[in-house]
Amino acid sequence: MIGAGMLLDTFSDSQFKLFEVLGKRFLFRADPISSYELDEKSWNFLQLCRRYASEKKSDAGKKGDDGLLDYVGRHMERAEAVRLLGEITSMFATIPEAESSTLDLPEEDSVEYAVFNISHACNMKCDYCSVEQGRFGGSEKLMSKETARKAVDFIIQHYKKEAIAFGFFGGEPLVNFDTLQFIVEYGKSLAEQEGKKASFYLTTNGTLLTEDVVDFLEEHRFHMIASLDGPKHLHDRMRKFRDGRGTFDTIFRNLERIRNTPLSQRTTLRSTYANESSNLLERLIFLGNLVDAGYGIGFSVEPAMFLPNDSEYISPPEQFAALIPDYNRYAEIFLQKLKDGEPIRFFHLCHFLTRMKRKTKFYRDCGCGTSYVVINPDGHLHSCHQEWDNGIGDIHSGFDDSAREWWSARTVEEKSDCSACWARYVCGGGCEMEYSPASDCAAFVTSRQFECQMKQHLIKLAIWIISELQRDDHHDESG
Ligand code: SF4
Ligand code: SF4
Repeated sequence: MIGAGMLLDTFSDSQFKLFEVLGKRFLFRADPISSYELDEKSWNFLQLCRRYASEKKSDAGKKGDDGLLDYVGRHMERAEAVRLLGEITSMFATIPEAESSTLDLPEEDSVEYAVFNISHACNMKCDYCSVEQGRFGGSEKLMSKETARKAVDFIIQHYKKEAIAFGFFGGEPLVNFDTLQFIVEYGKSLAEQEGKKASFYLTTNGTLLTEDVVDFLEEHRFHMIASLDGPKHLHDRMRKFRDGRGTFDTIFRNLERIRNTPLSQRTTLRSTYANESSNLLERLIFLGNLVDAGYGIGFSVEPAMFLPNDSEYISPPEQFAALIPDYNRYAEIFLQKLKDGEPIRFFHLCHFLTRMKRKTKFYRDCGCGTSYVVINPDGHLHSCHQEWDNGIGDIHSGFDDSAREWWSARTVEEKSDCSACWARYVCGGGCEMEYSPASDCAAFVTSRQFECQMKQHLIKLAIWIISELQRDDHHDESG
């Protein structure tokens, strides 16, 4: 039995979250990961427990059940309080332990996902670009085939798993398509010699998806993320060619090439919204319709991040509240699709829904600096495609072990903001780069706070969806 003392001892913001979403009330418990829909009486009881715990602080636990019941009894009938305490106590006692915990660190010296940043250049000039059109604070640069060959040799040598994942990023990687082709063909043959299977991932702005490029991507079974912010009037606001023309028409024409092809079934459309132009629901519905029409397998919609301090495109945390109705409305659409047996496509909601269902604790959300490595055009190794300076070694002299060790220690329990966050084990701590010392400027802190609110809200919506589905299951069983 958990008892009042233990209930109060653990009734901290980092362990429990009481929240309302879409007219329903829930209790979320961080560890083990669990959630319950509450009726009004249980909700009121737990609110009183919380108030008692915070007013009495350390004294509360010592006074045990009687202390709590005396306090709560001032606001509701004692018999009712005893019943609710019993109910909640047994509810906690039946929580299944999480399936497993993942502290997903690679073997020492190994790589699981290598991203070739083959182009510090871009054919576009988006207003909210966070990497200076791919220049990362330097001049435009493309990776040569010679560097690419050494980079592939280095990466293959450090792969310890059966499957080898090669990613391509920029700037715009298709600006350097020759090198991309070289890496794919050379990497594939080298992987085969080692008895390993290679897979390929491309992040692109979508403007250079010619027929030849699409054929190549199809031939090598690429997975692709293509940027499309939403309908033309939203997309062209930010995503422009260097001469200022909007890119929507070009990208849309190119996406026609992949429509209903196998490549479309490995393509995610990605929308970025900036401070002044969220129109969130419009984007979600537009991208959802495109994906349903065969232009992709899923989509994501995210705020612009990694912007300079003076950027007008940073979304301040206080603005998140304005987006809640749009996220909620889309969650209702998402739930209806689930009930109708239709495919669900909104990446972030799918992501948290899966994690909430599995109840597996995540200590990290990405392999930044450890299993994930980025190679820039000069052969320098970086922890992430958003890392400008420092780095974790280079392909000539190898990994900088101390730099990698620093990254591997960055678990959700080690990061000060995350360790006290109720959502930590479902979120996994988000983007590691956002928490690096280099990211401690005002702009990062602001956009991080915004993104945390977004993730926490999406987790609440995932809990709501699961609860609604369970209610339907119960009705079906009893009906
Ligand atoms: S396509 Fe990407 S790299 Fe190029 S300008 Fe736009 S955001 Fe920057
Ligand atoms: S990244 Fe934000 S939402 Fe995720 S655990 Fe850390 S503080 Fe919580």
